Amino acid sequence: MKLYNTLTRQVEDFRSIEEGKVKMYTCGPTVYHYAHIGNMRNYIGHDILQRTLEYLGYQVTRAMNITDVGHLTNDSDDGEDKMLIATQREHKTAMEIAEYYTNEFFKDFEKVNNKMPDIIKPATGEIDMYIKMITKLLEDGYAYQAGGNVYFDITKVKNYYQLTNHVQDELVVGAREDVEEDVNKRNPADFALWFTTSKFEHQELQWDSPWGKGYPGWHIECSGISIKYLGEHLDIHGGGVDNIFPHHTNEIAQSESYLGHKWCNFWFHNEHLNDESGKMSKSNGAILTVSVLEEQGYDPLAFRFMCLGSHYRKQLLFTFDNLNQAEQTLDKLRNKISLIEPSGELDDGSFKEYNNRFIEALSNDLNTSNALTVLYDLLKDEQVNGYTKLDLIRKFDKVFAVNLIVEKETAENEEEILSLIEKRNEAKKNKDYELADSIRNELLDKGIELIDTREGTTYKIINS
Ligand code: AMP
Ligand code: ZN
Repeated sequence: MKLYNTLTRQVEDFRSIEEGKVKMYTCGPTVYHYAHIGNMRNYIGHDILQRTLEYLGYQVTRAMNITDVGHLTNDSDDGEDKMLIATQREHKTAMEIAEYYTNEFFKDFEKVNNKMPDIIKPATGEIDMYIKMITKLLEDGYAYQAGGNVYFDITKVKNYYQLTNHVQDELVVGAREDVEEDVNKRNPADFALWFTTSKFEHQELQWDSPWGKGYPGWHIECSGISIKYLGEHLDIHGGGVDNIFPHHTNEIAQSESYLGHKWCNFWFHNEHLNDESGKMSKSNGAILTVSVLEEQGYDPLAFRFMCLGSHYRKQLLFTFDNLNQAEQTLDKLRNKISLIEPSGELDDGSFKEYNNRFIEALSNDLNTSNALTVLYDLLKDEQVNGYTKLDLIRKFDKVFAVNLIVEKETAENEEEILSLIEKRNEAKKNKDYELADSIRNELLDKGIELIDTREGTTYKIINS
């Protein structure tokens, strides 16, 4: 399989450290608010990667954190804690906020058919691990204490900017505002491993540590959880593109300094979903979530389908027009599939041909839209029997996961509907479009929507 590696900035042959097994880590959500559909695009991207690896025969073990402490307002290490803002906004405790939004997150996560990671760990549950790592980083001279906090000294690592390919100066300029705000740092780009109460007031969640009562920085959470649960060598670590700097850059610096060797081979990053105003955000205005889309009558899997239509490394624009179109296309696709009769028996030659094409598309850096083209070609191919088609579609849907094969809901008055469909077909043949339309509308009034495909007409029960 070929996969783009942010670390080397090229598409490479993916090789796992242990044959047949993949250890994969995904940066989890910050649970101070709802996860918007942009966040969900990122998790769909990770899900497609996991499902593709599994399709290729790998056994994947995947871990994810829940950031319930320590992710600050902006990505430099100053500002207020986002969780703190939420507790003030909602008059709840930090743990209540975290629990509520964690549940909401996983509801949406499952609505778009994402597989649950094998290991899910809230950051607040792993404080001992961070303390262990920070202690060693201090002992080995990678970290220093200043003003009550502990910082990582980025000048102590050889290639701090290896993941970003940015000119060092540009990023330092970007971080320069910190100089005024945080005079404790030796270098502007140093980052906090542990905060004490000296700098941030009103922190509800605090733990004893060798450096005083306080709380961990955001970056140490993911390093700690990943190393503790997946070990010292990781195959794939990923997140959204905004995680490349500073989050993943800092994770590499502290993890490799702690371990004394290379940590992760592949860095996987998903491009953003944008709305028409630009970047989606959790913090401003109404938050568009998968559940909100569902309340508006959309099938959450139409959103997943929309994501599959574009490459994970390309920005994707969210508009309701795009979503409507995705929903209509998915509906049509399911209807076409529902009309396939499972005739014949498995035709090995056709199965191999289409399965190989499907694998080839996904193995080409997860080209999901080409994989969909393979599906459409299969549907059109009159040489392939129904049994083989359905078998392939069932397998493809292990990766797409958009419920391509749906049990059709049968209407009580199916016979009447079928005879009206027949009558409408006759009317269309006779170019009596008025009658054809009136039949369609008559059924619509009864909560039955007709769907025309090249293979014929089916119906769908709709809630009126
Ligand atoms: P957060 O909860 O803010 O930590 O974000 C969770 C994940 O969503 C992170 O890995 C981000 O990189 C990713 N993310 C944030 N905004 C977007 C967006 N607009 N589109 C895609 N992914 C995003
Ligand atoms: Zn992370």
